[in-house]
Amino acid sequence: MTGTEPAAQRIDTTRPHPARVYDWYLGGKDNYPVDEQLGRQIASMQGDAPRAARANRRFMQRATRRLVEQSGIRQFLDIGTGIPTEPNLHQIAQRVAPDARVVYVDNDPIVLAHAGALLRGTPAGVTEYLQADARDPAAILEQAGRILDFDRPIALSLIALLHFIADEDGAYDLVGTLVDALAPGSCLVLSAMTADFEPENVRRGIEAYAAGGVTLVARTKSEMGGFFKGLDLIEPGIVSVVDWHPELGVDETPDGEGPVSLYGGVGAKG
Ligand code: SAH
Repeated sequence: MTGTEPAAQRIDTTRPHPARVYDWYLGGKDNYPVDEQLGRQIASMQGDAPRAARANRRFMQRATRRLVEQSGIRQFLDIGTGIPTEPNLHQIAQRVAPDARVVYVDNDPIVLAHAGALLRGTPAGVTEYLQADARDPAAILEQAGRILDFDRPIALSLIALLHFIADEDGAYDLVGTLVDALAPGSCLVLSAMTADFEPENVRRGIEAYAAGGVTLVARTKSEMGGFFKGLDLIEPGIVSVVDWHPELGVDETPDGEGPVSLYGGVGAKG
């Protein structure tokens, strides 16, 4: 683990943080009144925000399962990990392949504070946590390169991360830098917010986050496609996360109807 100051001292409870609002949507306990307030505000105008968060979590699980079971991937680099929520990515991967190596990355001190739960993996595998910023992909590659073998396939997951990073803050460049570093056979797993399904609600949601000091960007399907440049999208391509291989779900209880406002997709590097 990296980071020198005690994490708890750096947790700012005066303004909402994406990881903690998301934790509130998921019914977690690692959030503060300021996060709950924004979460409730969004849920009141966009009734399915908590459902979208749950659906996104399930997308992570299904995509990970697919890559470990069907593509034989054994290394995972998950950036924008969030507060641990079981099952976490390493639990999905290591259940199938106990030797799977997983590196988690987030830049929020609350995630660092709870990272212990992310590190309890199988003895045969590896789970590590890096405190780093996605906008500095070179630093992530340098640190992750000490744990993962970049000459072998890696599943790079950027799940519900890129809507916090605007184009002008380098969203496309950072994805390009990370994907360039991956060996053939690697995959990019990505989900991010869109306004394609419910434009007005999402626009109001973006305003509410902005009032809380958080940048949120909605992208169209074709803008999402730009993240997969040079990769082969696995069928069914870019779809609302609920529609990405629902048949791979394990113990998924029914959870509402229709799309949620997050696109998901998986691209493979040839
Ligand atoms: N990937 C998880 C959590 C999504 S919430 C899931 O899908 O379930 C988004 C996460 O991205 C938060 O934990 C937030 O702290 C993190 N994040 C936002 N901007 C980031 C950045 N620039 N660098 C690293 N992590 C970031």
